[in-house]
Amino acid sequence: MKSELAALEELQHLDLKTLDLHNEPKGIPENLEAMKAEVGHIASLLQKEKERLEEAEQWRLDREKDVAAQNAMLAKSKVKLQTVRNEKEHKAVQREIDNIRKNIQDREEEAIKVMEAIEQYRSAIEDHTREFGELEAQLRESEEQAKARMADLEEAIGKVNSRKGEITARVSPELLRLYKRIHKRLGRAVVEAKDGYCMGCNMEILAQAYNELQRGDKLYQCANCFRILVFKPKEESEEPAL
Ligand SMILES: [Zn+2]
Repeated sequence: MKSELAALEELQHLDLKTLDLHNEPKGIPENLEAMKAEVGHIASLLQKEKERLEEAEQWRLDREKDVAAQNAMLAKSKVKLQTVRNEKEHKAVQREIDNIRKNIQDREEEAIKVMEAIEQYRSAIEDHTREFGELEAQLRESEEQAKARMADLEEAIGKVNSRKGEITARVSPELLRLYKRIHKRLGRAVVEAKDGYCMGCNMEILAQAYNELQRGDKLYQCANCFRILVFKPKEESEEPAL
């Protein structure tokens, strides 16, 4: 019975480890999804900024064309000014010229403002492009790490499973069934009996049972939680290292 109980304890240790191994990958996709969302957010921000920059540049080109057209009109009006025949005509053409000059000045002022905006867009795009590159590199690195970790986990699960197979063969089918039933319900199915108490539920164990239990030649279950009890001499009562 002693060796069967020892085998059960190792089996339990492996079962709990298997749970951890199966649980870990659940956190991996969540982290990656959050990073992907961040990368996507920066990408769409960048796209909008590029569109705004294009619009502003188009607007500036339009203003430049406008100024060129106004300058051509100005040249024509100046020629016209040379051919006026009287004061009235002179005044009219002069007014025309003044208007054109005013228009040109307005367009040039607008062009300066839009140039400033263009500079701001360009610098924002530069910053976000750099940020995007960094995030994307981080994401790729995390994906690689996740892949490697998943492979490690799969390998570890494979090893644990083959070891479980070896140990299971050393436990009687009845005891194994009992263990599985309790394990399914309570997780930890094999617990230590220490100083007269069940370490699974902290209930006191009857003195008679506790004395017999210490010999380790019979199967004892806690009268309260039904977990399988094992007694360990002081120096052994440590959790096995992973
Ligand atoms: Zn108990």
